[in-house]
Amino acid sequence: MEKINKTEEEWKAELTPEQFEVLRKKGTERPWTGALLENKKSGVYECGACGNPLFDSSTKFDSGSGWPSFFQPITKGAVAYKLDTSHGMHRTEALCGKCGSHLGHIFNDGPQPTGERYCINSISLKFEEKPK
Ligand code: FE
Repeated sequence: MEKINKTEEEWKAELTPEQFEVLRKKGTERPWTGALLENKKSGVYECGACGNPLFDSSTKFDSGSGWPSFFQPITKGAVAYKLDTSHGMHRTEALCGKCGSHLGHIFNDGPQPTGERYCINSISLKFEEKPK
């Protein structure tokens, strides 16, 4: 995949302050506040920074966490992974595979068939509706 490398100044000019805080500064939106949390429409969830397709709506599930949750990415490589030891925890960070923006974290308490839970900030996503 072709990568996008922009300076933080460039991202800051393109994104809203709220998007910049999460996508580029690895912030976390407050749970139960995201616009896409309850979205049940058919379509594709894309990176809120660069538009890279990340998750298909068919893999979204209600995790009860307050953040949009998915059990697998749309393709291998759509999401990149990084060990995150901040806040005294060992977590796997999910990043956009194309532009490196922060999406959320991955946990192993998700549903089958993968058992994984991609816990993603709503503000890190944009939704492209594609009726079945
Ligand atoms: Fe991206």
